[in-house]
Amino acid sequence: MAKILIVEDEKILREILMDYFLNDGYEVMEASDGKTGLDLYQQHEVDLIILDIMLPEMDGWSVCRRIRKTSDVPIIMLTARVDEDDTLLGFELGADDYVTKPYSPAVLLARAKRLLDSRARTNKTINTNDSFIINGINVHFPSRSITVDGERVSLTHTEFEILAYLMQNQGIVISREQLIMKIWGYAYAGDDRTLNTHIRNLRTKLGNKARHITTVVRTGYKFVDSL
Ligand code: CA
Repeated sequence: MAKILIVEDEKILREILMDYFLNDGYEVMEASDGKTGLDLYQQHEVDLIILDIMLPEMDGWSVCRRIRKTSDVPIIMLTARVDEDDTLLGFELGADDYVTKPYSPAVLLARAKRLLDSRARTNKTINTNDSFIINGINVHFPSRSITVDGERVSLTHTEFEILAYLMQNQGIVISREQLIMKIWGYAYAGDDRTLNTHIRNLRTKLGNKARHITTVVRTGYKFVDSL
């Protein structure tokens, strides 16, 4: 069963979340500060992290940044502040999803499930088609890694999903709505900038191959084979 790490300093919120995940059959670990959360993450095999931003010892930004140096484990960030800049910073640091307090634990559980499912599904499609290469970009599903002209490029869970989906549909325009539904399974309330940020990060990591991801104005994106 998937193991969830909940890093939240408010005891009541942490316990409510733990109950939800335990009742759903997950293994749960808890930390009440960022430093302990990072330590637990490094000592155990964790499948998904729920990470509050305002934490004692080490804030959620720093924890996320540290984890992303070595891992693409799905991360959902929590914040009390309704601040768009916070959301964007979270995604820039590599968070996969973002939930603003107060949230419904059921919704958070659903989003966590979605991220875990998409990872399991990607892992399962391997047998028939475990990797493919287009224009020097090699997508390898078993390790969820990519190489660009033979050089390993580290992507977050969400960046990998976006790139793999666009490449599997090369030459076809994928609308923003399609991408959002594919990646998160629900519509963000009009927040296109979330997707923009992921695409921008992805393009930065792809370097000169970024030109293969073209923006189709007012519609979406398309992976083009040759230019
Ligand atoms: Ca907090």
